[in-house]
Amino acid sequence: MAAPYQRAVFDAGTSMQLPGKSARTEGGKPVRDAAVNQVYDNTGITLDFFLKVFGRNSIDNRGMRVTSAVHFGKNFSNAMWTGEQMVYGDGDQNVGGFTQALDIIAHELTHGVTQHIVPGGLGVVRVPVRDREFKEQTHALQGQSGALNESFSDVVGSMVKQWHAGEDVTRASWLLGEHMLAPEHGKAIRSLKDPGNRRLTWYEDDQFKSMDQYVEGADVHDSSGIPNHAFYLAARKIGGFSWEGAGPIWYAAFPLLSPRAGFEDAAKATLQAASARHGVKSKEYSAVHDAWRAVKVLP
Ligand SMILES: [Zn+2]
Repeated sequence: MAAPYQRAVFDAGTSMQLPGKSARTEGGKPVRDAAVNQVYDNTGITLDFFLKVFGRNSIDNRGMRVTSAVHFGKNFSNAMWTGEQMVYGDGDQNVGGFTQALDIIAHELTHGVTQHIVPGGLGVVRVPVRDREFKEQTHALQGQSGALNESFSDVVGSMVKQWHAGEDVTRASWLLGEHMLAPEHGKAIRSLKDPGNRRLTWYEDDQFKSMDQYVEGADVHDSSGIPNHAFYLAARKIGGFSWEGAGPIWYAAFPLLSPRAGFEDAAKATLQAASARHGVKSKEYSAVHDAWRAVKVLP
């Protein structure tokens, strides 16, 4: 049977030229390069998640080919969605192992999904050519809408990891990007359970947990802690598996957002989705409502 999706992994060979050399395509056997196989496998798990859990056929829901490049740049210590494909660096002495981390791969792929479910892109701004550190850095995320974009990627990244491990909301660590940092820097990149708790994450984790900490113009990776924590609280209160309880509510809500939506709009959209699925008297609806109140997005 033909695969329901088409993956293509390229090797940038430490250059920043895309696409790079073709390294593995759909149905191809594992190759010698571990990074290529890791991206191939983790992209497959993420696409499986979207298909089996949400009935979504690839990034655009129309079966588009999913392209990734590994060994991007020299010691490039990041992973990203360029607007068209995923790109992974090899990392440096501080952070690495992007291709091994299922939740990071699911995070990047979900930026692509968000681009398709919110026409015009959620919080996406063009980066002027003079401000780019490298050619592929064409877009960036800004404001509360950009933080929502980041958060949705974290939420799905966390769910994919839990789904693959078969963990319910109580057993899950709710950490993103474990085992990627050098031990002296910390244990994980972010925590949805307790954003900004450096003992759980790393020594410079500045994520906000509620609107009390929010400052206008903050980095989207910091302000995303607020909607991240709202998802965690809702998922915990609903219970069971996150991808069966809170997950489908979030997935139904995000397409309702406009490109410049704020946190309050996301709160209202998730309440609307919860009411459509379960009714306003349901425990799901009140869990979502309580979650947004706890992070002080709703009064
Ligand atoms: Zn991101």
